[in-house]
Amino acid sequence: MSQSVLQLDKAKLEKLISYYTPFQVIRNAPGVVFAAKLPDTAVTAYKSGKVLFQGGGATREAGIWGGSDVISSANKTTAPKAKGETLPEGFSELSVLGSDETGTGDFFGPVTVAACFVSSDQIELVRELGVKDSKQLNDGLMRDIAPDLQATLIHSVLTLTNEKYNEIQAKGWSQGKIKALLHNQALKHVLRKMNDRKPDYILIDQFAERGIYYNHIKSEPEIVRENVLFSTKAEGLHVAVAAASIIARVAFLEEMDRLSGIAGVTLPKGAGKIVDEAAAKILLKNGESALKSMTKWHFANAEKAKRIAAKKR
Ligand code: MN
Repeated sequence: MSQSVLQLDKAKLEKLISYYTPFQVIRNAPGVVFAAKLPDTAVTAYKSGKVLFQGGGATREAGIWGGSDVISSANKTTAPKAKGETLPEGFSELSVLGSDETGTGDFFGPVTVAACFVSSDQIELVRELGVKDSKQLNDGLMRDIAPDLQATLIHSVLTLTNEKYNEIQAKGWSQGKIKALLHNQALKHVLRKMNDRKPDYILIDQFAERGIYYNHIKSEPEIVRENVLFSTKAEGLHVAVAAASIIARVAFLEEMDRLSGIAGVTLPKGAGKIVDEAAAKILLKNGESALKSMTKWHFANAEKAKRIAAKKR
């Protein structure tokens, strides 16, 4: 087991305690002022200001607070390719509820989030349906696979339209907060559909550190916390995330199809120069409110499109 010890001053210790409060556990040991249990790390803080991190994620968690004042660190595990929490042995064969999102980097089109449960006895089937790491699949293939996945797997897919996105973004919600709320909601929906069954783990394709994620959703009436793990590149770690990623992607493509129909042109993805040009054309043809209703209006592309359009007028 990996373990790290830090010596923190009072202010840092208080910060640490409030950070881990959602995961607090009661430990009646001498000198212990606070204890918390994450899925892969136990955190114990002592009166002296010493904080002990134990478990697979010890180095990672200590790294949040330590920097140079790590006073001891033992049995460092080799860093996995994906950034995030240490997953249990044989993770890819367990029953997992996974979630992923799409569209956050695209000027045109919605943000979509999907959550998808794959039980251990469905893993082989899901692979046979063609689910691989979604980074290896193109849009056409994903459109082919998604209906089978949706028919086979307990899932939830949420499409946040541009109108709604722009409305909450204007209220000051960050993309991180928007994503966290959608992930929490999609996971909640799937857990509800699963009735009394429970996944071995929930894996979120990581877009924010655990503490930041939970801070975003702290005011939600229902917060999914139990057995939740975070990792980047999670679509390569379990087919449940890969399937969620495909379902989210296809929901994004379908909304893009709908918006393309309204615009009368195929809307380009991403946020590059082609996007600026297409946006300028729509601005000239359909006006600003039409363009706004199909884009993430706070992106720099909006101003660029206006400049291009002004020159063409
Ligand atoms: Mn992702």
